[in-house]
Amino acid sequence: MEKLSAVHTNAAGKGFYGEFGGSYVPEELKPRLEELERAYENILSDQSFFEEFHRLLKEYVGRPSAITECQNISKKFGGGRLFLKREDLNHTGAHKINNALGQALLAKRMGKNRVIAETGAGMHGTATATVCALLGLQCTIYMGAVDVKRQAPNVARMKVLGAEVVPVTFGQQTLKEAVDAALAEYVKDPDVFYLLGSAVGPHPYPAIVREFQSVIGEEARRQFMEREGKMPDYVVACVGGGSNAIGLFSGFINDPSVKIVGVEPAGKGLDTGEHAATLVAGKPGIIHGFKSYVLTDEKGEPAEVYSISAGLDYPGVGPEHAYLKESGRAQYVAVTDQQALEAFSELCRLEGIIPALESSHALAYALELLPNLNADESVLVNLSGRGDKDLDTVLPILGL
Ligand SMILES: *Cc1c(COP(=O)(O)O)cnc(C)c1O
Repeated sequence: MEKLSAVHTNAAGKGFYGEFGGSYVPEELKPRLEELERAYENILSDQSFFEEFHRLLKEYVGRPSAITECQNISKKFGGGRLFLKREDLNHTGAHKINNALGQALLAKRMGKNRVIAETGAGMHGTATATVCALLGLQCTIYMGAVDVKRQAPNVARMKVLGAEVVPVTFGQQTLKEAVDAALAEYVKDPDVFYLLGSAVGPHPYPAIVREFQSVIGEEARRQFMEREGKMPDYVVACVGGGSNAIGLFSGFINDPSVKIVGVEPAGKGLDTGEHAATLVAGKPGIIHGFKSYVLTDEKGEPAEVYSISAGLDYPGVGPEHAYLKESGRAQYVAVTDQQALEAFSELCRLEGIIPALESSHALAYALELLPNLNADESVLVNLSGRGDKDLDTVLPILGL
């Protein structure tokens, strides 16, 4: 099998995508990341690792996930055809399990018995607790105390799966602080494996996460080709840290005819300041040990960000997306909470699929695009997760 993401190196150094990425970390973290990089390079040429990974993706996660054509939506909105890549059908209900499984297998290869992870909405924490139960690893999840309260069902899931959930009580007590706390523990204990949840962080994490999520793009490309005999005209995915997006995009980056669009959360509107549209409204900077686009406050610190979907509100973004934006290969746009909610309702009512609010952002952009396309043009949206977790948020807003 061809490996898409052998470690990226350019004039700027190892792990750089253009000027973005790299590793800006305290001295004590450097040997740990080098150990991880060596282990990662070893598995890239180890067929038995990927045989086990793909066996579990098939037998445990339930891959390949389906491609679904949304004919009722196409009928209503006119223009082009809409297809979904159904990551919502995976075990635990989102794409995050692909990466959690790959990294947990890597942890075992490295002889690490304890895994730590950060989580915001609790989806990455749940995926991590799940694979740790499967593989017999001890699991500690750092979660902002505010999120522990907001995301009670996911906290319960992590606990029954055997994970310890540690509430983080400093700062805003949300995802950024959870990452800070997990990083501090990673520095302190040389025997832990830090299972990072998105295509962010210092090198080699963005490359590792891309590798394990690239199964989305590989499958989607093959499935679409088999079904339609050609490539889709657009591939669209929501962008928080950027892992489901880079997973899908990686299958199409080398096809110049395929337009690539990442969709960020514009929250209550870009002009309100209450959003998390990092690539659309941020600027280059350093966050959590890597260079990318960042949303900052007046003091130049990572800003307080907002989105209706907890999985998208991070003030940074994966470095490869910053590169794809600047190189022009991909385009990044933003849609508001309101647009995402409307798309959420359309998919529920017209297709019988309840999408995650994160994924609804990608869907909202696709619904804007469709009427402007011809009948032989198609849009493939990554449906990154299912929306059961969002019903408490959505019901009162929809007046149901
Ligand atoms: C976490 C999450 C996201 C955002 O994370 P990315 O790394 O940007 O993919 C998107 N969709 C769902 C369903 C999620 O759980």
